[in-house]
Amino acid sequence: MTGFDAFSFGARGSFAGVPRRTIDDVGDAGAVIIGAPFDWGTTSRPGARFGPKAIRDADYLDLNGSRPHLDTGIDPLATLSVVDVGDIHVVPGYMEESIERIRSAVTSIARAGAVPIVLGGDHTITFPDAGGVADVIGHGDIALIHFDAHADTADTHYGMLHGHGTPMRRLIESGAIPGHRFVQIGLRGYWPPPDVVEWMRDQDMKSYFMSEITERGLDVVVDDAVQHAANEAKGVFVSVDIDVVDPGSAPGTGTPEPGGITPRQLLDTVRRLGRELNIVGADIVEVSPAYDTADVTALLANRVVLELLNGMAQRSLGV
Ligand code: MN
Ligand code: MN
Repeated sequence: MTGFDAFSFGARGSFAGVPRRTIDDVGDAGAVIIGAPFDWGTTSRPGARFGPKAIRDADYLDLNGSRPHLDTGIDPLATLSVVDVGDIHVVPGYMEESIERIRSAVTSIARAGAVPIVLGGDHTITFPDAGGVADVIGHGDIALIHFDAHADTADTHYGMLHGHGTPMRRLIESGAIPGHRFVQIGLRGYWPPPDVVEWMRDQDMKSYFMSEITERGLDVVVDDAVQHAANEAKGVFVSVDIDVVDPGSAPGTGTPEPGGITPRQLLDTVRRLGRELNIVGADIVEVSPAYDTADVTALLANRVVLELLNGMAQRSLGV
């Protein structure tokens, strides 16, 4: 159900040249890279099906499976025995079948005791990504830290259950991740409407708007987020919608919203989360290369993966 070279828009090589594996044989990998080339849940500019390929390709270093970090001196790919299983065989245009296949792939990785790192894909996939991890660890037992300009808590997607504006609602309603275990960072702009924001408050979701981040500083907000997410949860799923970053620095995305955080802030924050929390899964979504300039968005997404893995490697080594 996964692999390389399945699609014209899919993976050719592995992330940073880490070993390729099949989904049924991830060995003793600590973290598994997997692509979800899916964009039939977008509402505006499509193209995120090319995201996993672009994120893997956004690299100017040799594809030798090694990425020692300048600051930490740690090679997270070796420390965590990271492997890549290629892309999930989603079915273009078929929403529910694709969601099922994503959930089954993510579940299989989590069952093997590894941390799935899913390259998207539009944000629809976080329902099966985080839901699949919750299926293994326990419904209600994991927290979700969600970076995004948008809350993605709409009731429906043009009357339908699934789309990139509804995954957080579906996770809450299905019981996989309750509202009080949600932390959202970076919300801004003009969506969702007030009734949805009220629903979010009723669910006891913690949502940090950009205005609060600007006032209090991101570090202080992340202090809160870490404390809240760690609170009695068995683990944390991190979902990064690349549009949390200002579109000036991340133009390659479908629904850009001006006034976001900087690439530096995002990179430092995900590394910190990896170091301070028990990460049980992650996804990086909404990279749409057709709107990118000089690969800056794909490069950023590639480094978001590496920084998160770095934090996780630091945690595993106790440094
Ligand atoms: Mn989103
Ligand atoms: Mn978004």
